[in-house]
Amino acid sequence: MSNFKIIVANWKMNPSIFEGIELLKSINQSIVRKKISSKIVICPPSLIIRDAIRIFSNSSISVGSQDCHYAQIGPFTGDLSYKMFEDIGCEYSIIGHSERRANHFESNKLIFEKLNSLNKSKIMPILCVGESFDEKNSGKASEAVIRQINESGINELEFKQKIIAYEPIWAIGSGKTPTKDEIMTIHGKIREKLNSKPNSNNIKVLYGGSVNVENASDIFSIKGVDGALIGGASLKQADFIKIIESVKI
Ligand code: PEP
Repeated sequence: MSNFKIIVANWKMNPSIFEGIELLKSINQSIVRKKISSKIVICPPSLIIRDAIRIFSNSSISVGSQDCHYAQIGPFTGDLSYKMFEDIGCEYSIIGHSERRANHFESNKLIFEKLNSLNKSKIMPILCVGESFDEKNSGKASEAVIRQINESGINELEFKQKIIAYEPIWAIGSGKTPTKDEIMTIHGKIREKLNSKPNSNNIKVLYGGSVNVENASDIFSIKGVDGALIGGASLKQADFIKIIESVKI
Protein backbone atom coordinates (compact mmCIF):
# COMPACT_ATOMS: atom_id res chain seq x y z
CA MET A 1 0.00 0.00 0.00
CA SER A 2 3.01 2.31 0.41
CA ASN A 3 3.04 3.22 -3.28
CA PHE A 4 -0.73 3.72 -3.43
CA LYS A 5 -1.48 6.49 -5.93
CA ILE A 6 -4.55 8.54 -6.76
CA ILE A 7 -4.97 9.27 -10.47
CA VAL A 8 -7.57 11.90 -11.31
CA ALA A 9 -8.80 12.64 -14.83
CA ASN A 10 -9.97 16.21 -15.37
CA TRP A 11 -11.83 16.21 -18.67
CA LYS A 12 -12.71 19.91 -18.43
CA MET A 13 -15.36 20.81 -21.09
CA ASN A 14 -14.38 17.82 -23.26
CA PRO A 15 -15.21 15.82 -25.36
CA SER A 16 -18.74 15.97 -26.87
CA ILE A 17 -21.50 14.32 -24.81
CA PHE A 18 -21.68 11.22 -27.01
CA GLU A 19 -17.92 10.80 -27.32
CA GLY A 20 -17.68 11.25 -23.56
CA ILE A 21 -20.07 8.40 -22.90
CA GLU A 22 -18.12 6.15 -25.29
CA LEU A 23 -14.87 7.14 -23.56
CA LEU A 24 -16.33 6.30 -20.13
CA LYS A 25 -17.33 2.87 -21.44
CA SER A 26 -13.98 2.13 -22.99
CA ILE A 27 -12.03 3.24 -19.90
CA ASN A 28 -14.29 1.03 -17.79
CA GLN A 29 -13.76 -1.97 -20.08
CA SER A 30 -9.98 -1.56 -20.07
CA ILE A 31 -9.78 -1.17 -16.32
CA VAL A 32 -12.02 -4.07 -15.27
CA ARG A 33 -9.70 -6.42 -17.17
CA LYS A 34 -6.58 -5.18 -15.36
CA LYS A 35 -5.25 -5.33 -11.85
CA ILE A 36 -4.99 -1.68 -10.93
CA SER A 37 -3.58 -0.75 -7.55
CA SER A 38 -4.25 3.00 -7.80
CA LYS A 39 -7.45 4.86 -7.02
CA ILE A 40 -8.86 6.15 -10.30
CA VAL A 41 -11.19 9.16 -10.27
CA ILE A 42 -12.83 10.46 -13.45
CA CYS A 43 -14.17 14.03 -13.45
CA PRO A 44 -16.20 14.38 -16.66
CA PRO A 45 -18.44 17.34 -17.56
CA SER A 46 -21.36 17.57 -15.11
CA LEU A 47 -23.91 16.59 -17.77
CA ILE A 48 -22.51 13.06 -18.00
CA ILE A 49 -21.67 12.48 -14.34
CA ARG A 50 -24.76 10.28 -13.87
CA ASP A 51 -23.80 8.25 -16.95
CA ALA A 52 -20.33 7.84 -15.48
CA ILE A 53 -21.68 6.65 -12.14
CA ARG A 54 -23.89 4.12 -13.91
CA ILE A 55 -21.12 2.90 -16.21
CA PHE A 56 -18.66 2.49 -13.32
CA SER A 57 -21.22 0.91 -10.98
CA ASN A 58 -19.44 -2.47 -11.09
CA SER A 59 -15.91 -1.14 -10.98
CA SER A 60 -13.65 0.56 -8.47
CA ILE A 61 -13.45 3.76 -10.52
CA SER A 62 -14.85 6.78 -8.70
CA VAL A 63 -16.50 9.84 -10.18
CA GLY A 64 -15.87 13.45 -9.28
CA SER A 65 -17.14 16.88 -10.25
CA GLN A 66 -14.86 19.60 -11.63
CA ASP A 67 -16.29 22.19 -9.24
CA CYS A 68 -19.32 22.77 -7.04
CA HIS A 69 -21.25 25.59 -5.40
CA TYR A 70 -20.97 25.91 -1.62
CA ALA A 71 -24.72 26.38 -1.06
CA GLN A 72 -27.08 23.39 -0.96
CA ILE A 73 -29.78 25.12 -3.02
CA GLY A 74 -30.53 28.73 -3.89
CA PRO A 75 -30.70 31.54 -6.42
CA PHE A 76 -27.43 30.75 -8.22
CA THR A 77 -28.26 30.58 -11.92
CA GLY A 78 -26.19 28.05 -13.79
CA ASP A 79 -24.46 26.63 -10.70
CA LEU A 80 -24.61 23.10 -9.30
CA SER A 81 -24.43 22.55 -5.56
CA TYR A 82 -22.11 20.26 -3.63
CA LYS A 83 -25.23 18.59 -2.21
CA MET A 84 -26.57 17.84 -5.70
CA PHE A 85 -23.28 16.15 -6.59
CA GLU A 86 -23.39 14.24 -3.32
CA ASP A 87 -26.99 13.15 -3.93
CA ILE A 88 -26.18 11.63 -7.32
CA GLY A 89 -23.18 9.73 -5.93
CA CYS A 90 -20.11 11.83 -6.68
CA GLU A 91 -17.25 10.95 -4.36
CA TYR A 92 -14.75 13.69 -5.22
CA SER A 93 -14.76 17.31 -6.32
CA ILE A 94 -11.94 19.32 -7.85
CA ILE A 95 -11.82 22.68 -6.09
CA GLY A 96 -9.87 25.81 -7.01
CA HIS A 97 -8.59 24.66 -10.39
CA SER A 98 -6.53 27.49 -11.91
CA GLU A 99 -8.97 27.73 -14.84
CA ARG A 100 -11.80 28.47 -12.38
CA ARG A 101 -9.61 30.89 -10.47
CA ALA A 102 -8.80 32.69 -13.76
CA ASN A 103 -12.04 32.39 -15.75
CA HIS A 104 -14.54 32.60 -12.89
CA PHE A 105 -12.52 34.85 -10.59
CA GLU A 106 -12.56 32.33 -7.75
CA SER A 107 -10.80 33.66 -4.67
CA ASN A 108 -9.26 31.67 -1.83
CA LYS A 109 -12.14 32.93 0.33
CA LEU A 110 -14.69 31.36 -2.04
CA ILE A 111 -12.59 28.21 -2.18
CA PHE A 112 -12.75 28.07 1.62
CA GLU A 113 -16.57 28.25 1.46
CA LYS A 114 -16.59 25.29 -0.93
CA LEU A 115 -14.20 23.25 1.22
CA ASN A 116 -16.23 24.09 4.30
CA SER A 117 -19.43 22.81 2.65
CA LEU A 118 -17.74 19.68 1.33
CA ASN A 119 -16.51 19.03 4.84
CA LYS A 120 -20.15 18.46 5.81
CA SER A 121 -20.69 16.04 2.91
CA LYS A 122 -19.38 12.66 1.80
CA ILE A 123 -17.46 14.27 -1.08
CA MET A 124 -13.68 14.48 -0.84
CA PRO A 125 -12.23 17.72 -2.25
CA ILE A 126 -9.14 17.77 -4.45
CA LEU A 127 -7.74 21.23 -3.79
CA CYS A 128 -5.67 22.65 -6.66
CA VAL A 129 -2.83 25.05 -5.97
CA GLY A 130 -0.01 26.30 -8.17
CA GLU A 131 2.14 29.25 -9.07
CA SER A 132 2.03 31.45 -12.16
CA PHE A 133 4.92 31.74 -14.61
CA ASP A 134 5.92 35.10 -13.11
CA GLU A 135 5.86 33.72 -9.58
CA LYS A 136 8.06 30.83 -10.68
CA ASN A 137 10.51 33.15 -12.43
CA SER A 138 10.79 35.41 -9.43
CA GLY A 139 11.55 32.47 -7.14
CA LYS A 140 8.18 32.71 -5.40
CA ALA A 141 6.64 29.37 -6.38
CA SER A 142 6.47 27.81 -2.93
CA GLU A 143 5.42 31.09 -1.32
CA ALA A 144 2.48 31.34 -3.75
CA VAL A 145 1.44 27.74 -3.16
CA ILE A 146 1.64 28.00 0.63
CA ARG A 147 -0.37 31.23 0.54
CA GLN A 148 -3.13 29.45 -1.40
CA ILE A 149 -3.12 26.63 1.13
CA ASN A 150 -3.27 29.02 4.07
CA GLU A 151 -5.99 31.19 2.59
CA SER A 152 -8.10 28.24 1.48
CA GLY A 153 -8.41 27.28 5.16
CA ILE A 154 -7.93 23.57 4.43
CA ASN A 155 -5.76 23.26 7.52
CA GLU A 156 -8.65 24.31 9.71
CA LEU A 157 -10.92 21.57 8.37
CA GLU A 158 -10.85 17.93 9.44
CA PHE A 159 -11.11 15.88 6.28
CA LYS A 160 -10.66 12.10 6.43
CA GLN A 161 -8.05 12.57 3.72
CA LYS A 162 -6.61 15.83 2.43
CA ILE A 163 -5.88 15.74 -1.29
CA ILE A 164 -3.90 18.61 -2.75
CA ALA A 165 -3.02 18.80 -6.45
CA TYR A 166 0.09 20.85 -7.09
CA GLU A 167 -0.48 22.26 -10.57
CA PRO A 168 1.90 24.98 -11.74
CA ILE A 169 -0.31 27.18 -13.92
CA TRP A 170 2.38 27.46 -16.59
CA ALA A 171 2.59 23.66 -16.86
CA ILE A 172 -1.12 23.08 -17.54
CA GLY A 173 -1.69 22.16 -21.17
CA SER A 174 1.70 23.58 -22.17
CA GLY A 175 3.78 20.43 -22.53
CA LYS A 176 6.18 21.89 -19.93
CA THR A 177 6.81 20.43 -16.50
CA PRO A 178 8.92 21.47 -13.53
CA THR A 179 12.10 19.46 -12.86
CA LYS A 180 11.87 16.44 -10.58
CA ASP A 181 13.65 18.42 -7.85
CA GLU A 182 11.21 21.31 -8.17
CA ILE A 183 8.24 18.96 -7.85
CA MET A 184 9.82 17.18 -4.88
CA THR A 185 10.56 20.48 -3.12
CA ILE A 186 7.06 21.92 -3.48
CA HIS A 187 5.41 18.63 -2.55
CA GLY A 188 7.61 18.51 0.54
CA LYS A 189 6.60 22.05 1.51
CA ILE A 190 2.89 21.29 1.02
CA ARG A 191 3.17 18.17 3.16
CA GLU A 192 5.14 20.06 5.81
CA LYS A 193 2.48 22.77 5.91
CA LEU A 194 -0.37 20.29 6.26
CA ASN A 195 1.56 18.18 8.76
CA SER A 196 1.96 21.17 11.01
CA LYS A 197 -1.57 20.55 12.28
CA PRO A 198 -2.53 17.60 14.49
CA ASN A 199 -4.72 14.86 12.96
CA SER A 200 -3.53 15.62 9.45
CA ASN A 201 -1.71 12.37 8.85
CA ASN A 202 -3.70 11.29 5.83
CA ILE A 203 -2.35 13.62 3.20
CA LYS A 204 -2.06 12.96 -0.53
CA VAL A 205 -0.20 15.40 -2.74
CA LEU A 206 -0.77 14.90 -6.47
CA TYR A 207 1.13 16.52 -9.30
CA GLY A 208 -0.72 18.01 -12.29
CA GLY A 209 0.41 19.79 -15.45
CA SER A 210 1.29 18.14 -18.76
CA VAL A 211 1.52 14.60 -17.40
CA ASN A 212 1.69 12.24 -20.38
CA VAL A 213 2.71 8.73 -21.38
CA GLU A 214 6.37 9.73 -21.69
CA ASN A 215 6.83 11.45 -18.34
CA ALA A 216 4.28 9.67 -16.08
CA SER A 217 6.57 6.97 -14.79
CA ASP A 218 9.28 9.50 -13.86
CA ILE A 219 6.74 11.76 -12.16
CA PHE A 220 5.20 8.88 -10.18
CA SER A 221 8.67 7.91 -8.96
CA ILE A 222 9.38 11.33 -7.39
CA LYS A 223 9.48 11.23 -3.60
CA GLY A 224 6.30 12.76 -2.19
CA VAL A 225 4.22 12.38 -5.37
CA ASP A 226 1.09 10.46 -4.40
CA GLY A 227 -0.53 10.54 -7.81
CA ALA A 228 -1.51 12.84 -10.63
CA LEU A 229 -4.23 15.12 -11.90
CA ILE A 230 -4.35 14.64 -15.65
CA GLY A 231 -6.08 16.85 -18.19
CA GLY A 232 -5.37 16.38 -21.91
CA ALA A 233 -3.88 12.88 -21.71
CA SER A 234 -6.91 11.58 -19.81
CA LEU A 235 -9.06 12.14 -22.90
CA LYS A 236 -7.13 9.55 -24.89
CA GLN A 237 -8.16 6.14 -23.64
CA ALA A 238 -4.93 4.34 -24.62
CA ASP A 239 -2.71 7.04 -23.14
CA PHE A 240 -4.69 7.26 -19.95
CA ILE A 241 -4.49 3.49 -19.41
CA LYS A 242 -0.73 3.52 -20.13
CA ILE A 243 -0.30 6.31 -17.54
CA ILE A 244 -2.23 4.28 -14.97
CA GLU A 245 -0.07 1.25 -15.79
CA SER A 246 3.12 3.23 -15.37
CA VAL A 247 2.71 3.26 -11.59
CA LYS A 248 5.32 0.84 -10.25
CA ILE A 249 3.75 -1.41 -7.64
C1 PEP B 1 -5.36 20.18 -15.57
O1 PEP B 1 -5.99 21.00 -16.22
O2 PEP B 1 -5.69 19.91 -14.40
C2 PEP B 1 -4.22 19.53 -16.20
C3 PEP B 1 -3.36 18.94 -15.46
O3 PEP B 1 -4.15 19.63 -17.58
P1 PEP B 1 -3.03 18.98 -18.54
O4 PEP B 1 -2.74 17.60 -18.03
O5 PEP B 1 -3.65 18.99 -19.88
O6 PEP B 1 -1.83 19.85 -18.42
